Amino acid sequence: MAGADRLPVGVVPSAYRLRIEPDLDAARFDGVAEIDVALDAPSATIELHALELSLPRAAARLEGGERRQAVVTLDPATERAALTFEPGLPAGRAVLEIAFAGTLNDQLAGFYRSTFTDLDGAAHTIATTQLCETDARRMFPCFDEPAFKATFEVTVVVPAPVRAFSNAPVRATRTLEGGRREIAFRRTMPMSTYLVALVVGPFEQTAPVDVDGVPLTVVCTPGRTDLGGFALEVGAFALRFYAEYFGIPYPGEKVDLVAVPDFAYGAMENLGCITFRESVLLVDEQTASAAELQQVAMVVAHELAHMWFGDLVTMAWWEGIWLNEAFATQMQYLCADAFRPQWRLWGEFARDREFGLEIDALHTTRSIEFPVSSPADATGMLDAITYLKGATVLRMLEEFLGADVYRAGVRRYLEDHEYANAVTADLWRAFEAASGEPVAEVMGTWILQGGHPVVTAANGSLSQAPFAYRPPDGPSAIGRGWRVPVRSRPLAGGPAAAQLLGDEPEPVAAATPAVVNAGGLAAYRTAYDAETFGALVARLDALTELERGTLLGDTWALARAGARPVADVLAVARALDPVAEPRAWATVLGVLDLLDRIVDERDRPQLQTAASALFAPLLTAFGWDAEPGEDVRTGTVRATAVEGLGVLARDASVRAEAAARFEAGALTGDLAPAIVTVVAATAAPGVAEVLLARYRAAPDPQAEDRYRTGLADLADRAHGLETLAHCFEWFRTHDASSVIGRLVANRVAGPSVWEAVAASWDDTIGRIPPALQFRVTMGVPSLVGDAALAERVAAFHRSHPIAIAQRTVDQQVERMRNGVAFAERVRPELGAALAAVA
Ligand SMILES: [Zn+2]
Repeated sequence: MAGADRLPVGVVPSAYRLRIEPDLDAARFDGVAEIDVALDAPSATIELHALELSLPRAAARLEGGERRQAVVTLDPATERAALTFEPGLPAGRAVLEIAFAGTLNDQLAGFYRSTFTDLDGAAHTIATTQLCETDARRMFPCFDEPAFKATFEVTVVVPAPVRAFSNAPVRATRTLEGGRREIAFRRTMPMSTYLVALVVGPFEQTAPVDVDGVPLTVVCTPGRTDLGGFALEVGAFALRFYAEYFGIPYPGEKVDLVAVPDFAYGAMENLGCITFRESVLLVDEQTASAAELQQVAMVVAHELAHMWFGDLVTMAWWEGIWLNEAFATQMQYLCADAFRPQWRLWGEFARDREFGLEIDALHTTRSIEFPVSSPADATGMLDAITYLKGATVLRMLEEFLGADVYRAGVRRYLEDHEYANAVTADLWRAFEAASGEPVAEVMGTWILQGGHPVVTAANGSLSQAPFAYRPPDGPSAIGRGWRVPVRSRPLAGGPAAAQLLGDEPEPVAAATPAVVNAGGLAAYRTAYDAETFGALVARLDALTELERGTLLGDTWALARAGARPVADVLAVARALDPVAEPRAWATVLGVLDLLDRIVDERDRPQLQTAASALFAPLLTAFGWDAEPGEDVRTGTVRATAVEGLGVLARDASVRAEAAARFEAGALTGDLAPAIVTVVAATAAPGVAEVLLARYRAAPDPQAEDRYRTGLADLADRAHGLETLAHCFEWFRTHDASSVIGRLVANRVAGPSVWEAVAASWDDTIGRIPPALQFRVTMGVPSLVGDAALAERVAAFHRSHPIAIAQRTVDQQVERMRNGVAFAERVRPELGAALAAVA
């Protein structure tokens, strides 16, 4: 894709030598970049990227040794610098020498400042990078497009005791005058600018783990290396897993997993120097819940997959970022599932599928592959469609092709494009060569248009139609006419049969009654005729765990679309045995949570009774405390039951037990988050103060998350407004936007919090880095109890757009309006449907 936002292609960089000296106290940095370039024609001007930098000097060294000074012109609008030479430069090789200076900003982007307080209470400053997607240009002048791959040799000058980490191992260090130290890192492989990393600060590093010759460490603020052991275990496993899966050795020389106190995203796949938010890297294996450990395992596995798929082979332009992210998301499950099979992690993938399809059924969805022009467009791509729908579509393709053929295609793609760039069509070509199947034609219907189908199985026949919750009241991004790889199997048992469903109805390949979407993870919804639905509900035991969860999730989606009564969803929930299947029970909790927000007050007793009827058998079966040797997933289901009973059933004995455990002191294990949630829902006097004190004294990032979330969940209007008022003082900037989003979803305080946020919109948004602003609206879909408020919310967000990811905001508003419409439609039937559960 060419366009005004692309650099001219006639000047190509091949190597960068960067020397940078950050001043941590003054929050600024100086540097010099030497860039080897090749000009394919004589040129008087060279354009490259620079943003919020000053470039005091620039020159070019020509092949004969001659040096020519440049006049530098900066254009903030295009984020570029133009170097003009008089006379102009000849075609051929040249070395650009550019001095630069900038500020260590507080926007969590580019080369930025992070701070922390050590265990003795002393404050420290860190300088660290987040250059993805287009912020390398905030750190040094560069050709900041992913196709301009080059090698990097980074040298940094720091005060003597301060440590520094970059993509490559240290080559040499020497002491300079003034107590400074120069640290030179080795040259990297050719890579895109967005993958450069430099982290400077008073860090500690674990001893390296030798992973078949690759040293692996965890880097973190002092006193926390003990919390890195689990990540090292996962990391070592993942490096070996991928070297084997891809058939290519790890492409770098070492891996440091670096925990950064202030971090916008979850993690960033810089080659060899992967940066993380602390909560997804540092964890105490003895006290964390299974869900928290799974989160760490999956994020580490995700980032390490990128070392090959993303770093070794990189998208040619940002519209291909979906492939990077969708693939790494799929791989994180494959790898973490192999790491701990007992977690049965594909159940969590089902959660991601559910959320991806939920967003994708909105008229404000988008195609997975989407034209990207500006930096804001590129950042806006990092959403549920890219990660979750994208991964679901790839997983469906893997099932269609078979796991071995799929892996052969991936290997061929990586071999063909290593150290270079590729586009999506290159991957489809590799799969076609490996399989002989029309992959590009099938996948085009899934990635080049928004939405997904509902496949209806009725009277032995299959047909497809676009799925939406409501008819559009304006333009819709939902497409039509998918090529649907359907796998079905007889309910009575037997192998799955595959067919590629097009626009015309056709007989279902398996004997009826058939389970459609066998295995449960494909990227479409299934609607059954009443007879088949009844047969499935009567034989839930004949479905696999994922098929049960998907039947529940699909029926719930159909109910919200008005295609099924709510009673059908509750019927599936009621037919579930009290088994340790976290996904199904989390869906049941989500269903009742929404119903709790919309139910008429006169029907609330029925809701509480239904919640009791569904969740009490779980607590009876599993008890409050883990039995030695129980299934590792039982604890997660136990926590869901405690939350359902304590919050939705308002069960007095569960609330009392949760309060007693909360008062007894430190909470650990699977139940810890649920106990905080129940205590927050009860909002007894004094709880707010305890939550804040424990948040401040938290021994690890997971405990911090738990108590911070508890503060946002406190079911009390005054406390909600107080937490909002202190948000930027109590919490790190990278958490404040999520806390506000969660406060808006608060059952009791939400509407008042939203009004307060709207009243101080410019001030609130102005304090949040642009890439995180959308999170303030993530609670909006919960504002479904008051139709008049919902209309005000929708009008407000229409007239107050944000700079990045406005589509995500539009999606939250559409979800809210769908919820309001659903509420108005089902309220009359709700009392009777809930009463039938008990
Ligand atoms: Zn990723």
